[in-house]
Amino acid sequence: EYNTLRTLKDKHVVPCIQQYYKTPLLINEGKMQWLFDHDGRRYLDMFGGIVTVSVGHCHPKVCEAARKQMEKLWHTTNIYMHPNLYTYAEKLTSKLPGDLKVVYFLNSGSEANDLALLLARAYTQNYDIISFRNCYHGMSPYVMGVTALSTWRFNFPVMHGFHHTMNPDVYKGLWGGKLCRDSPSQTTRDCNCLGGKCQASDNYYNQLEEIFKYSLPRGKVAGIIAESIQGVGGTVQFPKGFLKKAFHLVRTNGGLCISDEVQTGFGRTGEHFWGFEMHDVIPDIVTLAKGIGNGFPLSAVITTPKIAETLGHALHFNTYGGNPVATAVGMSVLEVIEEEKLQQNCKDVGTYLINELEKLRDEFEWVGDVRGKGLMIGVELVADKETRDPFPAKYFVDLMEDCKNMGLLLGRGGLNGNVIRIKPPMCITKEDAGFTVSVLRRALLNHEERR
Ligand code: PMP
Repeated sequence: EYNTLRTLKDKHVVPCIQQYYKTPLLINEGKMQWLFDHDGRRYLDMFGGIVTVSVGHCHPKVCEAARKQMEKLWHTTNIYMHPNLYTYAEKLTSKLPGDLKVVYFLNSGSEANDLALLLARAYTQNYDIISFRNCYHGMSPYVMGVTALSTWRFNFPVMHGFHHTMNPDVYKGLWGGKLCRDSPSQTTRDCNCLGGKCQASDNYYNQLEEIFKYSLPRGKVAGIIAESIQGVGGTVQFPKGFLKKAFHLVRTNGGLCISDEVQTGFGRTGEHFWGFEMHDVIPDIVTLAKGIGNGFPLSAVITTPKIAETLGHALHFNTYGGNPVATAVGMSVLEVIEEEKLQQNCKDVGTYLINELEKLRDEFEWVGDVRGKGLMIGVELVADKETRDPFPAKYFVDLMEDCKNMGLLLGRGGLNGNVIRIKPPMCITKEDAGFTVSVLRRALLNHEERR
């Protein structure tokens, strides 16, 4: 079966999707934090289908909600009314602060971000959008312009009107790396270098100001879009206070602030339900996908009534957005997060896991940095702790393969592909965290022996 499928894949499926493993995994089944391959082998899924399986694979309550709705009605159109859409919209927006009370349902993160950019442009009547280098916001044409990770670029220019400001990366950024290394109060996890008064942070802020001075017509902007913690870019966090200052600058120049909560939303970061809360900001527009549907295609743009009004000026339509099944799934995902206190679990298990991973950082010369919040964790592997040069790709592949063979699935990210991404279903236990660290430790020891 495996070989037949391999042949079909090579013949009929586009080649842009890279398989992580030397012998690609053929996954047949999922149950909560576990995945099972075609031979029935069990793996602890510490990547959650790229940060998407929030409450657990095939969670019984979510399955039941989907099944019930599927037997009743799969699809109608938003031209008619359907109760799920409105009750879920009320429930979902009740989780958001301030005036963020109006929702538009779509089907993917890219679609949500596309709409957010359109909304910012339509509302402000400005055109230019700012994003952070090393960000990932999706692959549809609009958002391909804001996604600023060169690994995702084709060899033609992006649309005009997109500006990529320097990413205040305090671990290996142009300024941050050096200064943070010298700073006695460095904690990369909180990025609170020198109590938030780190000069590097100011340098990055000046870069953002330069864009207003030199690149924007009349210094005006439609908006800025930011992940609360960069995900695909390798779990990169902003220095404390940075995003708040950046949002303020954008607003004073006529723009809206968009928080992409596709990865950081729904309690994953532990301390807060939304990632932007850790930056002490309330955005004008929030985009949600991935964890919102636990793997079912569902996404959302949430904004204020005033901004949403702009969409009344033209027809704007999405066939599947907010369909009865998607909204039934979304509602039950939210209920499970609350009932099973998954945000608290992210905080407890995440804190434990980060502490254990930090021990690996102290033990191994290749573990350069451990960062993140809750169950959104990055472990940056380096060739050398001093230079912070990336761990060679060929060794990284071996390490991932080793972990897989020991029953552990991890993610990979960052511009150089040298960051282990740990973003499991939010239901994992302390034992699972312990297993993760022990397997990773074994794989690092194997690497040491192989060298
Ligand atoms: N925003 C972020 C932060 C993401 O991580 C992703 C997907 N990795 C997207 C947007 C795009 O989502 P989708 O693949 O559903 O279009």
